[in-house]
Amino acid sequence: MSSVVERLRGALGEDVVSTDPAVLADRRRDYWVLSQLDDLQGRGAPQPACVVRPKTLADVVAVVNACRETKTPLVPFGLGSGVCGGVLVDAGAVVLDLSSMSAVRSVAPTNLLASFDAGVRGSDAEAFLAKQGLTLGHYPQSIGVSTVGGWIATRAAGQFSTGYGNVEDIVFSLEAVLPNGDVIETRGTPRASAGPDLRHVLLGSEGTLGVVTGVTFSIRRAPEHRVSAAFHFPTLEAGFDVQREILQRGWSPVVLRQYDSVEAQRMFSSFARGEDSLLLAVHEGPAAKVEAETRAVRDIAVAGGAVPGDAHATDHWLAERNHLPSFRQFLENGVMVDTIEIAATWDRIGGIYRAAVASLKSVPGILTASAHSSHVYRSGLNLYFTFAVHPEAAAGMRDSYLDCWRLVLKATVDGGGGIAHHHGIGRIRREWLASEIGDVGVSALRAVKRALDPVGFMNPGALIPDG
Ligand SMILES: Cc1cc2nc3c(=O)[nH]c(=O)nc-3n(C[C@H](O)[C@H](O)[C@H](O)COP(=O)(O)OP(=O)(O)OC[C@H]3O[C@@H](n4cnc5c(N)ncnc54)[C@H](O)[C@@H]3O)c2cc1C
Repeated sequence: MSSVVERLRGALGEDVVSTDPAVLADRRRDYWVLSQLDDLQGRGAPQPACVVRPKTLADVVAVVNACRETKTPLVPFGLGSGVCGGVLVDAGAVVLDLSSMSAVRSVAPTNLLASFDAGVRGSDAEAFLAKQGLTLGHYPQSIGVSTVGGWIATRAAGQFSTGYGNVEDIVFSLEAVLPNGDVIETRGTPRASAGPDLRHVLLGSEGTLGVVTGVTFSIRRAPEHRVSAAFHFPTLEAGFDVQREILQRGWSPVVLRQYDSVEAQRMFSSFARGEDSLLLAVHEGPAAKVEAETRAVRDIAVAGGAVPGDAHATDHWLAERNHLPSFRQFLENGVMVDTIEIAATWDRIGGIYRAAVASLKSVPGILTASAHSSHVYRSGLNLYFTFAVHPEAAAGMRDSYLDCWRLVLKATVDGGGGIAHHHGIGRIRREWLASEIGDVGVSALRAVKRALDPVGFMNPGALIPDG
């Protein structure tokens, strides 16, 4: 047994530090499809030295100190729903499984604040609030398989972000253990003009700059009223123009999702209209606001060339939206399926869509290449590409997969877009980070990393490109 495991067992107790092979196997990696392929083809990540399931903040401090002092890689783990390889351990690493810290700390309805341990499952947090007529307003598709701390570490986006914002918009304050073992608590006020906002050092840090142990969210009252709508557009661009008009005129439907014709036909076969693109809208809030917004959005859509569709298409999406896809069967059949989310301003998004889909179609064995938008802003929107590729031989699956990613990210960068809207960087986008934040940005990030974690033991290999 390695000395760090002995030390952790001595400090925290046998029950907190597991070397059970089944537990180690389960916490080696996240949901990244390439890690799943590598497992299937016998190249999977090795077992870590142990999985620690802390019970208290003091346990987390003890683990951080032990790993730093022994120069042992420490990999924070929420529920492993990350899809970019943020978790992929080396032999001998310690995995810190935060899902063992899962208490609701407090709810303050007057201030609309709710505090959770970082390991609380998203759906548990939401269910707890729902009993009191409250809501997070943050519903990633993975809400049932991800933690609130994981949301912070990856800068997650919920499906209702167009109305309610992304995780950075709802996080009120954070508690975290820094790599030197200090505990940082950011101030809890509605706003501060007190230097750089330290929450943003941890937002998106993917376990490389500290361990998030507690999160306070700015929550909402459950909405009084909800209305769904759907519209068909002859072209994707016509729908984008209408989405822009809606946002820029000051309306904020909680959901606007637009599917290209391939996805409209694949996912909404009973509602699709020929080769049209399909736009779904959800309006929520006080009844008077919802009524006015529903009417205004419909007017804007029709003026922009839309044919109003069946709102049941949107209800269908609402009912099915947290369905979790499994890659296993595809992989066993030699097919690589994945999604890539990017973002761009209005003037660039159409060009990026066309270039990315065209380059995906050039990959030998490509079965499908499509996209939808799901998060809209006054200045632009995201696109979420889906591809499936079936190379001739199983030995070519890895390369085909990497080709698809490279082509979509290249089309995005060449077209002036941003390489990651909400899934993070992990390992799949690490070498592209400079095209997002520049070489100077990467150097600055490395300097922050060196200052906070000079030993370099916090989740090495994720997020930050090698120097
Ligand atoms: C089917 C499916 C649907 C998804 N839908 C969405 C979606 O709608 N929106 C979205 O944003 N994402 C989505 N994701 C991606 C994923 O769920 C998010 O990235 C989520 O935030 C990860 O949370 P987790 O707790 O599972 O973290 P993990 O996967 O365990 O970890 C993710 C990264 O964060 C680090 N980390 C985790 N917890 C902590 C902590 N407490 N402190 C410091 N670092 C930590 C890890 O080291 C790792 O680098 C989806 C994933 C799947 C599989």
